[in-house]
Amino acid sequence: MFETDVQDVPQEALTGSLPSESQIARLLHEAYARCAEVTTGEVADYIPALAEADPALFGLSLTEVDGTGHRVGDTAALFTIQSISKAFVLALVCEAIGHQEVHRVVGVNNTGLPFNSVIALELNDGNPMNPMVNAGAIATTALVPGATAEEKWWTLHEGLSRFAGRSLELDTRVLDSESASNHRNQGIADLLTSYDRLHADPAEMVDLYTRQCSLLVTADDLAVMGATLADGGINPVTGERVVSPEVCRDTLSVLAACGMYELSGEWLFEIGLPAKSGVSGGIVAIAPGKGALGAFSPPLDRAGNSVRGQRACAHLSRALGLNLFASRPHPAKDAEHA
Ligand code: GLU
Repeated sequence: MFETDVQDVPQEALTGSLPSESQIARLLHEAYARCAEVTTGEVADYIPALAEADPALFGLSLTEVDGTGHRVGDTAALFTIQSISKAFVLALVCEAIGHQEVHRVVGVNNTGLPFNSVIALELNDGNPMNPMVNAGAIATTALVPGATAEEKWWTLHEGLSRFAGRSLELDTRVLDSESASNHRNQGIADLLTSYDRLHADPAEMVDLYTRQCSLLVTADDLAVMGATLADGGINPVTGERVVSPEVCRDTLSVLAACGMYELSGEWLFEIGLPAKSGVSGGIVAIAPGKGALGAFSPPLDRAGNSVRGQRACAHLSRALGLNLFASRPHPAKDAEHA
């Protein structure tokens, strides 16, 4: 699916460290050059304001757990975070109320169906299944600490900004556009309420969820946010602790199973990293203990994943030795077979 001709995987990278900075820079530029040629995919248009995105924009950013950043292309271009917010809101909620409660109320299994599926809810007795689909994300947002929607928003906005290391701004145009057209999400929240699985005002929770999706980020921001999850919860640029190492572990396991929509299995098979994508064209892919990739390119595949972003992540996962499932024999055994 993501054919690459990468052969030069640095062997030391398979054992827990990234290659040298000059190699990373070279490989990032190489991935960019190859994937910039790809012109397939469609820009999302079911949220009218997203249809205006420039399909030519393309940025790749990598932040190492020591805070070193590498970038190429449009890594400072702003776009709305959309579903990628779900990953970081999950982490904030796990930190606040514990992962067992999230497991109990929301679940951690892939639905195998699109992110905004109503059938998935019906088939599972109203169980939202996981925090990466819209039903589960709305249920997770309802668990954010705060007595009122405004208090919850403050916690959300402050928490996501701490992941990024800067105060994230709201794109009110995208927010208004989505708010005027998100009837399906309103239906999903009402359905959750009918199954007694949403203990907050459904319209308010959809509004909060839509706001979290409308925060503006860059590919550089995504790399820093992801690197915070790769770094045991400490933002490697600001040095601030955002969540605990256990919360990073739990969040990343959910991303591995559910982060790339119903194509999460294929992504894991090809790329081998926990990741989350969003319909505005962003992807964050996390290599625990090493760092994170932030990619941005608006044209999407049928599930909602950026086409260029996926290809670039596939290339870099192989070239940088990031795949979590890769190993090599113990040196002594390796020598015996040489
Ligand atoms: N706000 C979007 C929605 O709920 C996010 C979708 C996505 O990025 O997957 O439809």
